[in-house]
Amino acid sequence: MARIADLLGAGRTFSFEFFPPKNDQEQATLVRTLRELEPLAPSFVSVTYRGGRESRQRTYDLVTGMLRTTTLNPMAHLICVAHTRLELAEILVDYRKAGIENLLALGGDPPKDPNAAEGELAHALELVDLARAIGGFSLGVAAHPVGHPRSPDLATDRRHLAEKLLAADFAITQFFFRAEEYFGLVEDLRRLGVDKPVIPGIMPVTSLSSVPRMATMGAAVPPEWVERLEAAAPDAEAVRRAGIELASELCDRLLGEGVPGMHFYTLNTSTATREIYANLGLSARG
Ligand code: FAD
Repeated sequence: MARIADLLGAGRTFSFEFFPPKNDQEQATLVRTLRELEPLAPSFVSVTYRGGRESRQRTYDLVTGMLRTTTLNPMAHLICVAHTRLELAEILVDYRKAGIENLLALGGDPPKDPNAAEGELAHALELVDLARAIGGFSLGVAAHPVGHPRSPDLATDRRHLAEKLLAADFAITQFFFRAEEYFGLVEDLRRLGVDKPVIPGIMPVTSLSSVPRMATMGAAVPPEWVERLEAAAPDAEAVRRAGIELASELCDRLLGEGVPGMHFYTLNTSTATREIYANLGLSARG
């Protein structure tokens, strides 16, 4: 297994994000997707975590299964929400025992279930500190180019992010649609004295119906993107192609400016990522 901090030190990384399947059908889809994406030789792949006993097991099983049965280099996500410090320490120790060295340490969102247990760690930084104390992890954190939705203002968010990233090894951003938002984030961090790698997160918008959902996830699709997507409507395939083109143009600009890596939110399908790779001439990497 390769530590992501070392990979970033050696050159640009390309990575894919997956969520653990909840049923047999999702499992079959994921197996097919992994088979289709493995030839692109990603530097690492990451597996999300939703919290709760079942999700804890699903993420663990997928991450350790990838390590045992594929050539992929997995990273586990972990959130503070609804866990005691001891539980989080147990999860981290289990990952280390299984040979997992890459972790994305996250705050997580407040649980929707009012009966969910109160979490003991308030912010991702505390999880970074806990993982450091256990030792042996290459640690990533989340960054929000336009600021985290719960932050009172951008400057406060940037200060908390700078402190967190200083303790970690690298950051991966929430998806965004304008390159300037990413460059603004990197510049703000530099001014705060932090120059650790910040990997841009890429999410293609492949349907008009997903546009309102993106806004609720903290990254509104800008009018110039909506205009290009609407111009292709009502042909759903043409809208999808326009979305892939827009994402490819964004990636092209980011790569041209020398970003340290590129992280694709795959939603467990391979088509969009493979098409963007082809547009960028990256397919030959595999
Ligand atoms: P934090 O760094 O804890 O920040 C949360 C808020 O608290 C921010 O407003 C921040 O400015 C503020 N803050 C931080 N430190 C302090 C402090 N000391 N005092 C006061 N305020 C502070 N969610 C999941 O549930 N599962 C996943 O697998 C998952 N994967 C993700 C992957 C990526 C790449 C990204 C970008 C997000 C992911 N998320 C995931 C979403 C994430 O959990 C949410 O955005 C969550 O609301 C915040 O997480 P964070 O790690 O940024 O939290």
